[in-house]
Amino acid sequence: MKDLLPDQAEMAAKRLAAGATGRLLPLGLVGRTVAWVLSMLLLVLAAGWLTQTALDRLRADLRVVVDDELDQLMDALRLVQQTEALISQSLMLSQARTHDERKRLMVDQQERLEWIRKITRQVAAQAVVSGDLLERVGRTQNQLGEGTAGLDELVAQRLRLVARPAGRAHQELLQIEDAIARASARQREVGAELSVLMGYFSSDTRSRMQARIGKLHTEMGRQQVLLWALNGATLVLIVVLGVVLYRTVVLRIVKLQKAVSTQPVVQADIDVVGHDEIALLAETMRQYVERIQANEERLRRTNQDLAYLAEHDPLTRLANRRHFDAASRRMLTALNTPLAVAVLDIDHFKVVNDTHGHDFGDQALVHVAHCLGTALRDRDVLARFGGEEFVALMPVAGLDAAVEVCERMRLAVSAHPLAHGDGEPVALKVSIGVAVIAGLPMRAEGDLPAAMMHLALQAADAALYRAKNTGRDRVCASPEPIPASTRLA
Ligand code: GH3
Ligand code: MG
Ligand code: MG
Repeated sequence: MKDLLPDQAEMAAKRLAAGATGRLLPLGLVGRTVAWVLSMLLLVLAAGWLTQTALDRLRADLRVVVDDELDQLMDALRLVQQTEALISQSLMLSQARTHDERKRLMVDQQERLEWIRKITRQVAAQAVVSGDLLERVGRTQNQLGEGTAGLDELVAQRLRLVARPAGRAHQELLQIEDAIARASARQREVGAELSVLMGYFSSDTRSRMQARIGKLHTEMGRQQVLLWALNGATLVLIVVLGVVLYRTVVLRIVKLQKAVSTQPVVQADIDVVGHDEIALLAETMRQYVERIQANEERLRRTNQDLAYLAEHDPLTRLANRRHFDAASRRMLTALNTPLAVAVLDIDHFKVVNDTHGHDFGDQALVHVAHCLGTALRDRDVLARFGGEEFVALMPVAGLDAAVEVCERMRLAVSAHPLAHGDGEPVALKVSIGVAVIAGLPMRAEGDLPAAMMHLALQAADAALYRAKNTGRDRVCASPEPIPASTRLA
């Protein structure tokens, strides 16, 4: 048990704890996820802000177009209409039959002209028209006003003349009618000119509207491109995120899973790359596998040791009784030569113990076991039966050969006294009793081999007893071979 592994599991656990707590993860999965989410959030917010801004600007521009420009266009169109109405009213004025009708038309004319002037001022204040055009409009309107007043005066004269007795003012009436016709024609000309000038106003408003709508169009196109760019960037970001997630998370986890699911797990296959949570997980798994493998190795060695101890004597490392029983059964049933069974006992071992101490006694047991082993062959089996007693199983040609091997063992012990500190080496001796079983192999049925071995051990024991009683440090043999098959048949 001395050569068991050091407690690797504990060491691995310590390393694991140090690794798990001592590592900073500035670019770990959590950090990266936060970064990704923030960038997506920024892009979505930017897209939202852009859409909102674009819609606000669109709404404002539309309001200008609808409220202001359209109003101006309507005003300009009404100016043209009213100017034309003014001209036809001038015609009606020239044909007025009564003073009332003339006055009413005149009031109408002035109100209309006043309205036209007011609206013209409004339109002119907003429209980007040249000063020359404005001046021309003002002058034409004045001419129209003056022309109306002149016409009114002429019409009033005609009405007064018409009221006189017939024939007296005929010539004068003709002249006035002629003047009215000329004034009306003049009014029409001026009115037509004013209409044309008013037309400039409306076309100016219309082209301004067109320009503004065009600008709106361009602006919307620009916002559209920007929005698509942002959407595209978000899409690219999502795709990149997917690829990055696949490569840095999914693939690594799959690889990790494969590495730990193979049997046996090869630690080098557990990739510990980077400094994120997966690397930490991989490191933890690697250390865990290391721990498990260390434990498995320890278990395997412990089992080996237990198996060894189950069949060996821990002090001399010789076979124990259990091993001896199995080996004797094997030999009895497989050998086709006689089998010698020798029982060995250290002489006066109690004295050795009492004189030099129990520890030295232990050393002496190990030493004797070693000496006995050097005298035996590979196929022989040497076991410790307990105390200072040993048993050897030796395939031999016959009793003489058995005695010869036993002598070798005896001499191997007596020729090698055991060194004892600075003092004299301690001489050790053994007495040996040996019996030979002939007629092998025997049947392996039931307890037959065990019973046979029991007989042989009894015979060898009896021989040992004789050796002890006849002076020790000698080999005594059971005289007759034990015939395996006949005795048990
Ligand atoms: P004999 O020549 O008649 O065999 O005399 P002995 O002294 O060898 O025999 P005895 O049976 O009187 O004494 C055997 C001694 O062996 C007694 C015991 O303390 C000792 N012994 C038995 N097992 C061990 C052991 O594992 N270690 C040590 N140091 N001594 C042991
Ligand atoms: Mg004894
Ligand atoms: Mg003894």
